[in-house]
Amino acid sequence: MRIITGSAKGTRLETLEGEMTRPTSEKVKEAIFSMIQFDVEGKRILDLFGGSGQLGLEALSRGADIATFVDSSREAAELIKKGEVVAIPTETVYGLAADAYNPEACAKIFKAKGRPQDNPLIIHICDLDMLKNSVKEIPPLALTLAEHFWSGSLTMIFPKKDIVPDTTSGGLDTVAVRMPDNEDTLNLIKMCGVPLAAPSANLSGSPSPTTAQHVYADMNGRIPLIIDGGECKNGVESTVICFTNGGTGIKVLRPGVITAEMLSRFAKTETDKNVFAKPDENEKVISPGVKYKHYSPRADITIIETDSDEKLAEFLNSKNDGGTYGVIFGGEKGIEVPTISYGSTAQEQAHNLFAVLRKTDELGAKRVYVRCPEKTGVGTAVYNRLLRAAAFKTIIL
Ligand code: AMP
Ligand code: MG
Repeated sequence: MRIITGSAKGTRLETLEGEMTRPTSEKVKEAIFSMIQFDVEGKRILDLFGGSGQLGLEALSRGADIATFVDSSREAAELIKKGEVVAIPTETVYGLAADAYNPEACAKIFKAKGRPQDNPLIIHICDLDMLKNSVKEIPPLALTLAEHFWSGSLTMIFPKKDIVPDTTSGGLDTVAVRMPDNEDTLNLIKMCGVPLAAPSANLSGSPSPTTAQHVYADMNGRIPLIIDGGECKNGVESTVICFTNGGTGIKVLRPGVITAEMLSRFAKTETDKNVFAKPDENEKVISPGVKYKHYSPRADITIIETDSDEKLAEFLNSKNDGGTYGVIFGGEKGIEVPTISYGSTAQEQAHNLFAVLRKTDELGAKRVYVRCPEKTGVGTAVYNRLLRAAAFKTIIL
């Protein structure tokens, strides 16, 4: 398995199995240069560099005879065109990408993630032609929203054309579409010439990955390539909406950093009840993803709702048995159990939540109490993910 950095500044690295290298630091740069070792027909060949060419030129000046410039996007596109799965960075979380029109390729996504077959994939496009090619009807409201929010973390659901296979749509006759806000990924989609189906690049059920290292932890040995684009900007998945009232209204099925408040400037916007509630046993849900346990580390998660720092400290201290951790806003006083801050604003909390949940596993936490975020604006996205990570377990102090 190889990991390569995003194409724009990219450096292509062959990594040893089990070893992850991020070619961003001077140290790693030096490691790369020390690899100008291998000789082919008397020439020292550097076949490691891509992107801007800066490193390649430097390598030549340091004695390489040949520097081959390989663009990570091109390599990823070749794999995708062959029906393979590649992990890609987006502004929300990392995605596991495959040709959305190729059912065998998309089946590999489900297999790599261990994802239930009826949980549909979001398809990622780079222009409106790809939207028109994939869906039957586009309400004028969708075009208005696309103009305002794309490229960005808004996913819209449309009736699908037959070109989108059932494997991709989880057997539904609709398909979810978005245009990601990541230059390299948009370029990659363009090079592939087809939309990329890409759910979050984690094992099903575990916290979504917001760094290439998170992807590596879950996907090593399951996919051939990860493109490392650094930390994801948002940290939570896109807002998913469907249209109501003949295409004139909006229903939020999954909250994200594009909030219901922002959408309500364009049309009457409601939030689906399953955003904050557990669906009933046999309920037919609009968004199949809400049925499943999600985003969970190994530790047992509980949400703590309180306005009082003192009550929070008192509660956590009463659980001080070595395996207990608190995930707090930061700055709360008097807490004796180990804590991790996930930020005091909803944006920070969205950005950090999944990384912090993964961290609790690394620390060997058994029980994790997470202070409840605001339930408005971007906080709704954080709260929605936390509820599922905690299987809705909440204590009010
Ligand atoms: P993920 O790919 O892990 O970000 O999850 C995608 C989310 O979008 C899941 O919750 C799906 O249930 C939802 N979704 C995708 N496609 C559709 C669709 N056609 N109709 C309703 N929900 C969808
Ligand atoms: Mg997911």
